[in-house]
Amino acid sequence: MLEKNTSYIELSKEALQFNVNFLKSEMGENVLISSVVKGNAYGHGIESYIPLAQECGLNHFCVYSAFEAKRVQKSLIENATILIMGYMSEKHIVWAIENNIEFFVSDLVCLKTAINYAKELKSKCLIHLELETGMHRTGIEEECIKEKVLPLLLKEKEYYELKGICTHFAGAEDITNYFRLRKQKESFIRIRNLIHDYGLREKYTHTSCSAAALRFKEMRYNMVRIGILQYGFWPSPEIKIQYLLENGLDYFYLKRIITWKSKIIQVKTTPKGAFIGYGEAYRADAEMCVGIIPVGYANGYSRALSNSGTVLIHNKRALVLGNINMNLMIVDLRNIPEAAVGSEVILIGSQGNSEITVASFGELSNQLNYELLTRLPIDIPRNVVE
Ligand SMILES: *Cc1c(COP(=O)(O)O)cnc(C)c1O
Repeated sequence: MLEKNTSYIELSKEALQFNVNFLKSEMGENVLISSVVKGNAYGHGIESYIPLAQECGLNHFCVYSAFEAKRVQKSLIENATILIMGYMSEKHIVWAIENNIEFFVSDLVCLKTAINYAKELKSKCLIHLELETGMHRTGIEEECIKEKVLPLLLKEKEYYELKGICTHFAGAEDITNYFRLRKQKESFIRIRNLIHDYGLREKYTHTSCSAAALRFKEMRYNMVRIGILQYGFWPSPEIKIQYLLENGLDYFYLKRIITWKSKIIQVKTTPKGAFIGYGEAYRADAEMCVGIIPVGYANGYSRALSNSGTVLIHNKRALVLGNINMNLMIVDLRNIPEAAVGSEVILIGSQGNSEITVASFGELSNQLNYELLTRLPIDIPRNVVE
């Protein structure tokens, strides 16, 4: 059989169980943890991740699209709630109503469409009102809530269940957004109170992503939407430091679930002074031994890691030389004489006492954790390990 893939992903059950236990004890019994699995479960692979997450005690999943919701639905091993946070076309809304899938209502058109189809289907739509509180992205404005949404909701009570009232913070992982977020909290409380004044009550109130859930305890209400933390990564270094300081800890590690591996396909010696790879991005200052790895930016390894990424081979670090190519990268083997064709290469993960944490690339960009993970191609095989 022809092999389609040049790299492999492993998901650690033990690591996920550790992270879930941490999140549950941190958030407390009364706060439901919704596992955010958009972006193909942050690259972990929805089809492999969902059954694993359920085995580890997660049963509420947030996705971005109806397409992802369907993939989650097919992967479930027991009942769970699925909540779509993003844009929905009319067809998506019909499908969601027919399948008891919950969804964010972020504008009046969506609400009207949902209620109309619920009537037609003699059913109920399961909605979460997303409030605009200052992110200025999706979400219903206060004016519109007052003038349009509330009258409609009061009139059409048989056709919906108000599963949630929610909002999203504009960058809770970054302290420089402090004032903006404080305003968002005030707006959220005010608009939610307004809705309550009209006698409506939601089942879940949720505002917090990973960073906010750790930073703003008062905004956890009875549900948080946790993405990056469950996968074992901190939203930003400052959130980690704040957590350590608040808890009087010198260190605390979440456990990375993902390991991403490949193999060396060629080893060669390049002459002193040679440029390695495309252009002049790297010049060998001596004769040197290099290894070729069949993973490039088309395979999910960010080009931003040109001349700066590291991989593990035989428990040692090897630096990426020159530019990341579309399907290949070249690494420095000068300190790894044991390296040979077929040697295992760790792109993310640990080997011996060394580890590539993704966050070690974090100096380049805080967002690289999210970006690198979600860009891991959908067709890399993902296997669960105990
Ligand atoms: C992605 C997302 C989250 C999760 O964010 P993390 O920082 O990964 O925890 C929560 N809420 C919404 C609306 C999102 O889009």
